[in-house]
Amino acid sequence: MHTQSRLEVQKCPMCGAPLRIHPHDTTALCVYCDAPITIHRGSQGEYQLSEDQALGREAATQIKKLLASGQEAQASLLYAQRTGVSAEEANQTIVNFSEHTQVSLFFRSTLNALGMSTALLLLGLVGLSGWLITVKPGIGIAVIVPALLFLLLLRGQFIRTIHYLTSARIGQARVLYHALLLDKIEDIRIARVNLEVHGPDGERFEVETHIKVRESALSKIQSGQVLEVKYLPNQPDSVLYGRGLKSTIIG
Ligand SMILES: [Zn+2]
Repeated sequence: MHTQSRLEVQKCPMCGAPLRIHPHDTTALCVYCDAPITIHRGSQGEYQLSEDQALGREAATQIKKLLASGQEAQASLLYAQRTGVSAEEANQTIVNFSEHTQVSLFFRSTLNALGMSTALLLLGLVGLSGWLITVKPGIGIAVIVPALLFLLLLRGQFIRTIHYLTSARIGQARVLYHALLLDKIEDIRIARVNLEVHGPDGERFEVETHIKVRESALSKIQSGQVLEVKYLPNQPDSVLYGRGLKSTIIG
């Protein structure tokens, strides 16, 4: 296993999107166009990437579906059978692919107005119950324990929201590449996007991130479209899409 080794960014030979691979990978799946890729190194160590015709894109889509339902072992098996690579190589490719198609938006998200009000109310309750403990200890403790627990849960998002409120910059982001992930929560889809961000002071950077988008607004996530994003200074990975506090969701 070499999952810990540094990722190198190559270009998908089929769609041109960034393809993140480990130095020893021999195969890969493009997260943007689903193309199965074979990786060769030339005598100078240069990369030669080509589409693996043996696998075919419908098998790649099948693999995505297996991963979405948590069947990583079956996905590896199918990949090994269809490409003829070893079980270890297949597993490495699938792990790599799955790392880039699974997301945890919760830990990056900010709170909306209701969430912020709740957090502030909880802070007030903690203060109040601090005083209550000195007069009526039983009731004070009954209030402070759940209030503290909820605050602890919201802590990361609360601090992040304050950060965005006080120092976020607004930029314009052009969608270079995009792919929809299979997970769907009601009418909300998650898209992996490769963005070219232009900041207010002329700074420019590229970033790959995940954004939530309603199905009715999917047309905004096409290549070439320009989105308004916000981000924290010098933190490209902090890019969020949208205006309000519920900033990763398009209204
Ligand atoms: Zn591709």
